[in-house]
Parts: sequence; C-alpha cells; structure tokens
Amino acid sequence: MTTTTSTTLPTSIVGSLPKPSWLAQPETLWSPWRLDGEALAEGKQDALRAVVQEQHRRGVDVVSDGEQTRQHFVTTFIEHLTGVDFSQRETVRIRDRYDASVPSVVGAVSRERPVFVDDARFLRSQTDRPVKWALPGPMTMVDTLYDRHYRSREKLAWEFATILNQEARELEAAGVDVIQFDEPAFNVFHDEVRDWGVAALERAAEGLRAQTVVHICYGYGIKANNDWKATLGDEWRQYERSFPLLQRSSIDVVSLESHHSHVPVELVELLRGKGVMLGAVDVASHQVETPEEVADTLRKALAYVDADLLVPSTNCGMAPLPRTVAHEKMSALVAGAALLREELAAAGR
Ligand SMILES: [Zn+2]
Repeated sequence: MTTTTSTTLPTSIVGSLPKPSWLAQPETLWSPWRLDGEALAEGKQDALRAVVQEQHRRGVDVVSDGEQTRQHFVTTFIEHLTGVDFSQRETVRIRDRYDASVPSVVGAVSRERPVFVDDARFLRSQTDRPVKWALPGPMTMVDTLYDRHYRSREKLAWEFATILNQEARELEAAGVDVIQFDEPAFNVFHDEVRDWGVAALERAAEGLRAQTVVHICYGYGIKANNDWKATLGDEWRQYERSFPLLQRSSIDVVSLESHHSHVPVELVELLRGKGVMLGAVDVASHQVETPEEVADTLRKALAYVDADLLVPSTNCGMAPLPRTVAHEKMSALVAGAALLREELAAAGR
C-alpha cells in the first residue's frame, strides 16, 4: 500500500463535516446555500479553512475538506458535467431504498473542465499534513440518475469512470495524497459489483500514484437508511460479497463501518493485505464515544488486519450532526487511536 504518513494508525474522517450556520442550514443533508455569488465563493473557502483548523486542533492526521464546498457528495460532481439535464427530473428508487426526484442523462456525458481541482488546491495550501479528497464512485453516480441516453447502467458507469479518472489525476497533480471513491451502492447491488462495479472503480483509479480508497457504508443516520438497516437482521454480511473482489483489486484501502454496527468484524479478514479504514465512530448517534470505546473497536479489528495497514476513521460522513458533536467525535477518534498506539508500542508491535 502507498503510505501517506509515518504515523502508525493515522486518523482520517470519512468525509463530510457540518457546515457553519451562516453558510447552510445546520443538521440538514443537502441543505441549500445561504449565500450567493462572490460571497458564496468566499464563504466556502472560509468554511474550508475552519474545518482544516478544527482537524489540526483535534489532531486528525490526514486532513479532508469536510465537503464544505459541495451541497451533495454525488450531485455536486454531476452538476458540472455535460449530458445531464437537471430540469428533466424523474422519480427513481435510490439504492433500492427510497424514492427521489433525480436529473436525467440526455446525451453523452463528459467533463468540460475540472470540478473540484481549485478547491483541492486551496485545501492543499491550508495544511502541511497529507490531504484526502473524496469523489463519488461510478456505480453510486449511476444510481442517482435517470438514464434516457445509454439505457445501460454498465455503459454509463464506464463513462463516469473515465471522467472520474480525469478528475482524480488532476486532483493528484494539485497535491492530493489520498483519493477516496464513495460507493455505498456496493452494499446493495451485489451482482453488478461482481459483473462490472469493481472493474469500473479500478478504471476510475487507473494510473494514480495517490493512495486510493473505496468507502462502502450503510449510509448517513437518516430515517430511510435506519429503516433499511432494521430489515437487515442481526448480522450484516453485505461486505462478504464485495470484500473478496476488492482484495484482488488495484484499490489500496477499503473504508467500512464497524462501531455500533451489526457488521461481523471478522469480515475484515477478507481484505487481508489491503489497507483498512475502520469506522470506530458512530455517525448515527449524538452520543460522543469515549477514547476507550474507539480503541476497543479498533483493537477487535487487529485480529484481522496488520497494525500498519489500519486507518482509524468514522463510519460515514458527519454532516447531519450538530457541529460540536462532530468535533468532539473527531477528538474521541484521535484519543482512541492514541490509546491503541501506546498499547502497540508497549507490546513492541
Ligand atoms: Zn458513508
């Protein structure tokens, strides 16, 4: 695995953080902006500065943008592409779980210009620590659209993979050390993951020297997701389908949820040899974990992953949480990782 830091157990959050209330309505997913024009551009940068500062202060090792410059982790990227018409909307079922009104693919999709590269360059200028940038994965993008043009999820995914690869290469050139692809759809469409999902993801990551991560989760702690989780039974074994495929893939690190989750931790063994970004902080609860609870979740995973391949993290993004809760959860993550690091050092590992 390409490493980004000499720290053992380098901490990193999955993605989003709450936005300041002057920029967007707090504790709301996909909340509309409260500013526009120049003021919005400036406001996004100020918010990004603030989340970098907060990660520094809390001791997070690999710094993210907290998605402060985007409204939605998938849609904001798609908005910048040609071939998608946001005025032609259709209702589709997202991840087989909830209905949403989505834009339509009406022609060949392409990226006319970089989407996040300026934002990533700004992030790079704000910190000396390694930086991570998240992009949606091809399958999750396909699952957020109504396709009138290709009429094939696989074909559309390959087109998106090519576009994502262009963007990822430019992010890397802008100084991004870790590129993460968010693929929650991998927990739902198991046959497609096997048939073309992992291949399309590898295409998106092709030729990158930056460390590559795929984040697969059970979603934000919102009602539609919580209702779905309630139907999954006592043991969540969805990862059992994707992990063996990812273990054989070119992707460096797999990000999964673990803390307060019904995922049997031994499934991590299926990733042997890969980096494991383990969710040791629950994003569906306002209760802030103790450092001991975080360390305990991480420690359990060490039976299945080598310590030098373990990246302590959160289960998913923290955008819907109150700001202070999200910040305290970052501190808990860092303190929990530090506890385990001390134990490993004492045991000579
Ligand atoms: Zn997630």
